[in-house]
Amino acid sequence: MDGTTAVTTTPAVLILLGPPGAGKGTQARKLEERFGLVQLSTGDLLRAAVAAGTEAGKAAKAVMEAGDLVSDEIVIAILRDRLGEPDCAKGVILDGFPRTTVQAGALDDLLTESGQRINAAISLEVDDAAMVTRISGRYTCGSCGEGYHDTFKTPAKEGVCDNCGGTEMKRRADDNAETVASRLEAYHAQTAPLIAYYADKGVLKSIDAMGDIEAISDALATIVQGAMD
Ligand code: AMP
Repeated sequence: MDGTTAVTTTPAVLILLGPPGAGKGTQARKLEERFGLVQLSTGDLLRAAVAAGTEAGKAAKAVMEAGDLVSDEIVIAILRDRLGEPDCAKGVILDGFPRTTVQAGALDDLLTESGQRINAAISLEVDDAAMVTRISGRYTCGSCGEGYHDTFKTPAKEGVCDNCGGTEMKRRADDNAETVASRLEAYHAQTAPLIAYYADKGVLKSIDAMGDIEAISDALATIVQGAMD
């Protein structure tokens, strides 16, 4: 005995729920930095699969361009693989997953297998009407992923990332008004029911996500801290 007590901690699992444009990605990145957790975005994983031309990517491409949901089978397989990677032992923030009750059930099963639990599912509450404007103007730095917006957040020097100095800015193919309408519809039909699902499990938290990004981030951090204690 060396006098120390071994403490075994189970990696935290946080879920961010909310429609496209609610700020899940932005806030997940901030939580990642603040708490040393790993952001897991199924949208990013799918875009990487499309870019790499994998079988899953080929099947997902047209569905994503139309603003519909990719099949549960594909998304669950991608998430399961990613969750099995060693860095996820730091704890994860799920951004954009689950999006259907089938995915929520699959996540419960995966976590049961690994002896983990959901610390909190946090619903970012926003005004739908504002989402089209938010999404249509957004773009990111191709090098570091920092997010910008034509109206709400422009870099100090046009075309140059404040964070890393990168000069290649990217816009997502599905960030246009028509596709956003389909994405919002998919959210209300298939994902919004998860709010009640997590409320029933006693892990739901809600936050007003219409205000200032930093203020929302601070409020989220308080919730996350409480959920990890
Ligand atoms: P996001 O980056 O989260 O906005 O996702 C972009 C697109 O990827 C969505 O509009 C869907 O087509 C697809 N997608 C991302 N995550 C999921 C998921 N959990 N289930 C089904 N489709 C998804």
